[in-house]
Amino acid sequence: MCGIVGYCGRLNAQDVVLNGLEKLEYRGYDSAGISVLDNNILKTKKRAGRLENLEDALKDDPFTGNIGIGHTRWATHGIPNEINAHPHLNSDGTISVIHNGIIENYGELKDELLSKGYTFKSETDTEVIAHLLDFYYKDNFFDAVTNTVKRLKGAYALVMLCQKEPDTLIAVRHESPLIMGVSKENGCILASDIPSVLEYTRDVIYLDNDEMVVANLDGYKIYDKDLKEINKKSEKVEWDLEAASKEGFDHFMIKEIFDQPKAIEDAIKNKMKDDEINLELGSFTKEELENINRIYVVACGTAYHAGQVGKFAIEHFTKIPVMTDIASEFRYNSPFIDDKTLLILVSQSGETADTLAALREGKKHGAKVLSVTNVVGSSIARESDKTLYCYAGPEISVASTKAYTTQLIALYFLALDFAKKLGKISDDEVKNVINELKALPEKIASMLKDLTPYQEIANEIKEAKSIFYLGRGVDFISAKEGALKLKETTYIHTESFPAGELKHGSIALIEEGTNVFSIATQSKLIEKTASNTQELASRGAHVYSIGRVGDKSLEKYSNKVIYVPESLDILMPVLTVIPEQLIAYYTSLAKGNDVDKPRNLAKSVTVE
Ligand code: GLU
Repeated sequence: MCGIVGYCGRLNAQDVVLNGLEKLEYRGYDSAGISVLDNNILKTKKRAGRLENLEDALKDDPFTGNIGIGHTRWATHGIPNEINAHPHLNSDGTISVIHNGIIENYGELKDELLSKGYTFKSETDTEVIAHLLDFYYKDNFFDAVTNTVKRLKGAYALVMLCQKEPDTLIAVRHESPLIMGVSKENGCILASDIPSVLEYTRDVIYLDNDEMVVANLDGYKIYDKDLKEINKKSEKVEWDLEAASKEGFDHFMIKEIFDQPKAIEDAIKNKMKDDEINLELGSFTKEELENINRIYVVACGTAYHAGQVGKFAIEHFTKIPVMTDIASEFRYNSPFIDDKTLLILVSQSGETADTLAALREGKKHGAKVLSVTNVVGSSIARESDKTLYCYAGPEISVASTKAYTTQLIALYFLALDFAKKLGKISDDEVKNVINELKALPEKIASMLKDLTPYQEIANEIKEAKSIFYLGRGVDFISAKEGALKLKETTYIHTESFPAGELKHGSIALIEEGTNVFSIATQSKLIEKTASNTQELASRGAHVYSIGRVGDKSLEKYSNKVIYVPESLDILMPVLTVIPEQLIAYYTSLAKGNDVDKPRNLAKSVTVE
């Protein structure tokens, strides 16, 4: 979950490491630390809180040296304080390790090390690695690392330094993400994600599970899990760092909301060729599809909501029933998986541990796996049979916006592609839907012209203790996404309900002034949702409706109506979510929250 950076080259290691960590703060930000081999002495500094605390501490007393490692943490074991911050050291401070992931057997390893006389400073699982490295170090750091790694169970990306071998950096990954930027002039940069290396190189090597890197000032070697030296080709990263910067906006979240017209346009362009759907390696052939008799869509959080809209879309266009499940539940729900099952996974980062585990469970039972993800070369992309990319560009704000809408686009295309190949849809209908999809960017741009209504609503709801979101059909999924977006950015309790379900119990919570967002865009269901919302209004609820432009029927029982442009019913979630995102953004701002880095969250959830 955290961000890690390791550097070995001619540049100043502290600068490269801190610079790289700044790009990774979205991954974890409760403490930060750095180790540098400074004149052959291993020096370490750590601070609780944001990276800037560490940067301040280094200002008066900077490290010099060409090899270093650094970490921004998202605590899993032990509170986020300075002692638990990474790097972790062996007892005499000559071995240093940074870790992303969880060591599942750390308890037994700790007992073993305690019995050997080792003492522990932190509550982390990671510290066992530092002591194991010490225990196995005889006169060769490489051997110490390989012997240590053999003992570890769980998930880890590790980068390690040893003062006795001050020209070497060693890294290894197992389940947690790790890439390496390589450059003749600038050396090697190991990092959890690409933005950390882009200032120095565009050539990136995607490390696979259990691969190990040994780097020094002359270059690097990569070993596979059998410790055989291997040659891995680097790949050129095509996007640039500007795509990962705020470009004049106050926050990444609002910048990414505004990115959506362009991101959706790119997402559509990349799924078409000569005016026809063309998903290339992102879909199955007609024959393969005919061999599938069960479809699951599995994901977490916002991606799960995208997956649920995807279910509506696939069922709508193909008439094939689709089941959805939350990734952390899927494995334990005894799913029916065999070689005729298609498992569709949705994950922005492509590293979501729960979703990755669902993928492996699916593969174990012979399922075909198709993933929808934003990150090229991510673990989920690499382990899937087919991958459909979102083309949202890097999403930095923890609260997902453009990744969600581009996931929706990917899933609509998938549904159309399946329906077309299976002969369930006419060419004219495909054309019509594609035209409607192509019209979405302009419609979104029009919604972003006047932000005052969203700012006003934000001011009205910012003190609320609890807010309800309702909808029917696919509007209920939009209600869920709106509730999640507001909850994660503002810390206001929100709950979403299928509109008809409230009266079966939860209506007891409605009192004078309770804020309710009612999503009513589905032509066949508007009247039904209207009646349910009216029931709430007559009990004193303060109702904000989100409906189609021109639908005056909503005004009767709503305190305010937010109108979104017309589109096909099934495509409405792409438009409905825009006001929801903006209201979440402005309410978070009005509350003085850290919009891009809400408390307790992290962007890429790489632990189960
Ligand atoms: N499990 C480690 C810890 O709690 C690493 C967490 C992370 O990936 O940031 O310190």
